[in-house]
Amino acid sequence: MLSKRAKEVSPSATLQITASASRMVKEGKDVVAFGAGEPDFDTPVVIKEAGIKAIQAGFTKYTPTSGIPELKEAIVKKLKDDNSLAYTSSNIIVSCGAKHSIYNAIQVLIDDGDEVLIPVPFWVSYPEMVKLAGGKPVFVPTSSKEDFKVNPAILERHLTKKTKVLVLNSPSNPCGVVYRANELSAIADLCVKHNIYCISDEIYEKIIFDGLKHVSIASFSDAIKKLTVTVNGFSKSYSMTGWRLGYLAAEPEIAAAISNLQDHSTSNPSSITQRAALAAFSLDEKFFSDIRNIFQERRDYIISRLDKMKGKIGYKKPEGAFYIFCDISGTKMDSFTFAKRLLEEKLVALIPGEPFGCDDYVRLSFATSMEKIKKGLDRIEEWLVKL
Ligand code: PMP
Ligand code: GLU
Repeated sequence: MLSKRAKEVSPSATLQITASASRMVKEGKDVVAFGAGEPDFDTPVVIKEAGIKAIQAGFTKYTPTSGIPELKEAIVKKLKDDNSLAYTSSNIIVSCGAKHSIYNAIQVLIDDGDEVLIPVPFWVSYPEMVKLAGGKPVFVPTSSKEDFKVNPAILERHLTKKTKVLVLNSPSNPCGVVYRANELSAIADLCVKHNIYCISDEIYEKIIFDGLKHVSIASFSDAIKKLTVTVNGFSKSYSMTGWRLGYLAAEPEIAAAISNLQDHSTSNPSSITQRAALAAFSLDEKFFSDIRNIFQERRDYIISRLDKMKGKIGYKKPEGAFYIFCDISGTKMDSFTFAKRLLEEKLVALIPGEPFGCDDYVRLSFATSMEKIKKGLDRIEEWLVKL
């Protein structure tokens, strides 16, 4: 008999649909996959070579649970240079992906019945992680008219005595929301006023468009920094999804608790990956701007095509990440029906919005080539005309 906890957890729609689209491609079907939540470019050569060298040098044993000192030092420097955050190694925990970092943070902050504020739409794993910790996800609605953003007034309406954590994600998955400094500062004030922790998921930090600059919520004051767990990782910025490496920065007490949790669960993340990640920090700003330009060009092309499908499909222009969250209410279909029919009838895979909290939306990932994007959009357009 499974535990109550296990029974309550849903599978990850993003991972499942991406896997079934890949399976169809392997079977020789001409599927256009807009599902994937991972960059389509290869892991940079310097990173791969550092991984190979680590293996050849026999760096293949256990490391300290929370990460090798050199990598922690490099993360401290990164957080200072990029995010104006002054941390030391005792604040840093390296884990097996940002997903793992968020999971760990929730495990050490949440007791049974504690409430976690989650703005809707949300990345599919947040509510499940909260449930696994015995907590209660409290969904905070947003609207496309207000750019899918929460503000202190909306958050305040959802506060109770049990509110413990707010999960923020900027740039966001699934809708590419990028919070501005003044908006984050106001949310930081609210967290400080009510003594609420903020888990700030900054995994898409480097994929940001229109000249916008990413701001870390912990950078506003010591008070918010003490309450914030800043999460980042290597998957999206360096196309290292399969290497599994993420990290967080938090108060030493939280970091130490997470280190204990890792001691008894995963132990250290892969030694080889940690060495490879160290090499990732040698990449310069040009590397990121080249990637940003490629994603921005794709985004602009997609929205120029979606503009021709108005009435059936709406969207809010994403300012970061590599997803566009499309309003399909004009088709009168729910998101699973839309995604299932589109895959069966036109061999185009995308992710239904329901697991992100919005059943009249679907998520289209543009982490795929321009050629595939054109082909996929041609198919969607033909399909919509005949509906
Ligand atoms: N946060 C968000 C919003 C994501 O989309 C992802 C992608 N899987 C992650 C965290 C976790 O990334 P990873 O575990 O690969 O570092
Ligand atoms: N974060 C990505 C996505 O949303 C990868 C899949 C996952 O880990 O959920 O598609």
